[in-house]
Amino acid sequence: MSYRQTGIVLEKLSIGVGDRFAHQAKPQLAACARAADKGVLVVPVWNKSNREHKIVGSEPGNTRAAADAAVRELGWTHSYYVDADHINLDTVDRFLAASDFYTLDVADAIGHPPDAGAAESFVHRHPELVGRIEIQGIPEPLQVTAEQTCSAARKYLFAVSQAGRIYRHIADRKQAGHFITEVSMDETDSPQTPSELLLILAAIADQGIPIQTIAPKFTGRFNKGVDYAGDVGQFEKEFGSDLAVIAHAIAHYGLPANLKLSVHSGSDKFSIYEPIRRCLRLFGAGVHVKTAGTTWLEELIGLAEAGPEGLSMAKQIYTSALDHLDDLCAPYAAVIDIDPARLPSASEVRDWTAEQYAGTLRHDQQNPLFNSHVRQLLHVGYKIAANLGNRYTDLLRACEESISRNVTANLYDRHIEPLFLRT
Ligand SMILES: [Zn+2]
Repeated sequence: MSYRQTGIVLEKLSIGVGDRFAHQAKPQLAACARAADKGVLVVPVWNKSNREHKIVGSEPGNTRAAADAAVRELGWTHSYYVDADHINLDTVDRFLAASDFYTLDVADAIGHPPDAGAAESFVHRHPELVGRIEIQGIPEPLQVTAEQTCSAARKYLFAVSQAGRIYRHIADRKQAGHFITEVSMDETDSPQTPSELLLILAAIADQGIPIQTIAPKFTGRFNKGVDYAGDVGQFEKEFGSDLAVIAHAIAHYGLPANLKLSVHSGSDKFSIYEPIRRCLRLFGAGVHVKTAGTTWLEELIGLAEAGPEGLSMAKQIYTSALDHLDDLCAPYAAVIDIDPARLPSASEVRDWTAEQYAGTLRHDQQNPLFNSHVRQLLHVGYKIAANLGNRYTDLLRACEESISRNVTANLYDRHIEPLFLRT
């Protein structure tokens, strides 16, 4: 089938920004406005998962209200979206009123066997997925045996049908076309090969999901809040292949013409920004990059730089995070690498200046003070600030100037500019 795109069409370049406490939408939007002033439209998508809402004690409506207010205050005339990040059938309902972007997370369903005979009939229906598959942009044709296609179908068909169920659940409750659909399979162990991605997209087309972004698992480690760890050359090769497969799938299965990759970066994968930029230009493709949680770290840096009261709270949050190391890290165990021996003690941190605190935390790998262990701990430590309640958010307001400066500079200088504007 093919899709008449009559509803929301996600722009070519978009950036997923996270805002744990819903206080930084305006300085985040200011970074997009700076790019727009330079002639590059990068639309913001405020993403927040159910897990984050539960830890912070917030509602999707808070994210929507903050986004709407920022757009009003800055006079942003372009699109913006609110993403129900990593939802499934159990968690989607609370997002129905506030979100217009849904990331259907079906990674857990990968490997679950499909209905009896479903894989065989899929392969029968898709003879083009067997044998030699020529894809423009991939130097060597893919070579896939019937057995390989059938086994990939057994691995992925149930997950895709699950995405179909979630999509229809949303479409029955919101008007179809009035929301953007992403399918994510990133939170799994092994990256999808180009032929697997092609099969997944064919199955998504069979399900009639008007998918606009897809988040596969890429090669390498995407730990939270720190740089990419892996083979950058291999990443670039796979990223280029994925772009080629997507263009091929749009042409052959009539998927939405603006379908693009979504990179769930876990924030701050600076060393793959240049390969991403190069591939996008080569293929004339768009991308969605989620950079999620680092705004909260800019709040801490902004607090530390704002004066004694802010610095004292920033230190207190670190000390508490250190005390609750195991609890804070447990939900993120697969995506952090913290060496407790590299975490400074509470008494060391007590004497830190604002420069020391900011230098340790700010993601400048050239700065000798930078400590990725502290950064990762605080990245997952937002529950500590959530527990401080109004004490924390009141201070955010009092230190607004310092925090805003850091939030906008981080998003623009370290993400938007190197990804989308640099020549
Ligand atoms: Zn993700």
